[in-house]
Amino acid sequence: MSHFPYQDGVMHAEGTPLPAIAEQFGTPTYVYSKAALLENFDSYANACSGREALVCYAMKANSNLAILDILARRGAGFDIVSGGELLRVLAAGGDPAKVIFSGVGKSVAEMRLALSHDILCFNVESIPELHRLNDVAAEMGKTARVSLRVNPNVDAKTHPYIATGLKANKFGVAFDDALATYRTAASLPHLEVAGIDCHIGSQLLDDAPLLEALDKLIELIDTLGHEGIVLHHLDIGGGLGICYGEAGEAAPVAVADYLGRLFEKIDAWRAARYDGAPIKVIFEPGRSIVGNVGVLLTRIEYLKPGATKNFCVVDAAMNDLMRPALYQAWMGVQSVTPRVGNAENYDVVGPVCESGDWLAHDRVLSAHAGDLLAIMSAGAYGMTMSSNYNTRGRAAEIMVDGDQVHVIRQRENPADLFALESLIK
Ligand SMILES: *Cc1c(COP(=O)(O)O)cnc(C)c1O
Repeated sequence: MSHFPYQDGVMHAEGTPLPAIAEQFGTPTYVYSKAALLENFDSYANACSGREALVCYAMKANSNLAILDILARRGAGFDIVSGGELLRVLAAGGDPAKVIFSGVGKSVAEMRLALSHDILCFNVESIPELHRLNDVAAEMGKTARVSLRVNPNVDAKTHPYIATGLKANKFGVAFDDALATYRTAASLPHLEVAGIDCHIGSQLLDDAPLLEALDKLIELIDTLGHEGIVLHHLDIGGGLGICYGEAGEAAPVAVADYLGRLFEKIDAWRAARYDGAPIKVIFEPGRSIVGNVGVLLTRIEYLKPGATKNFCVVDAAMNDLMRPALYQAWMGVQSVTPRVGNAENYDVVGPVCESGDWLAHDRVLSAHAGDLLAIMSAGAYGMTMSSNYNTRGRAAEIMVDGDQVHVIRQRENPADLFALESLIK
């Protein structure tokens, strides 16, 4: 995470020392680097330059309005999974004509909202959803552009909770049912069949499963073409992994290498069967855009020696960062101002009343109460998965731009948390 360097023994976010941020805004606080965000987005945008391609940032990874605004200005589209996310895109000034709507459970109200803003495409996951969307579009006198999320049944070789492309997953239309489902879609008068998509999993380190999924999509596009169902875009989903820094962890494939191989395959296919006529390509990256953009800054409350374990109790908890509790995810923990000597092995835990409330196991730290720690690579699926469990206000979010520091979300006060509740009369 090169945008969080040590200078004079102190971790910085770009040009700003993290202790200054903790001093001014308190902890726990998410701190993001704008330069890192632009660099990650540009790695996709540059690999796509000169092509008909759209990078739809999967905003469930981090949906702060400032992040959406920065990406929208850079030309990003958005992959949304709820009506609420569409409202965020609009609030941030994003273009609904670059929005695709994913998810297995779209409600009538969400379909109406998305149709009223003429989004680019609905990624549909079932026949009942096709019928519902057709009905809603008919009622509004509109036509909905649709893509079918096909389940290519490839093993993404990732954690079971984030593998989504296997037959046993709830996502997508089974590969063997895709043709029949497309026929249904093509027969419905208020739907326009526009494309095909898949999303096989998350934190993929190798692009082989993605390229295998691409082969399956290509096969289907050709088959559909023979039936007169011509698709205009191919959406390969997101899923590229990032480096979390665990010892022995394989390095994720570079975005440029993956996109290079993917475009090479697509170009060869189009040249062989379509006289080189291009097809629009859509990507839905989430983690690889924001994961390494942020750290969770936290302060050590207590060091608590135990009979079999030492605990480092910090002021951030599972409600702030759920990945360890939910996925047994490994997160890097670094001292903001490293010390020498007195190194001990600790479990880094939060104040929440759950044994599952841990952020890291077995870390060797030279730590004192009051020291700051940075939980690294916390920009994706950090703040967006946070909750108010234990009536803990959500952390503040800060965006650093060089030596400039911007509050992009204020810390929640406890009173905000029960403001919508009422006593019965
Ligand atoms: C979550 C999600 C993504 C983004 O996944 P990453 O692993 O964060 O890149 C893309 N598409 C869909 C449909 C998703 O649900």
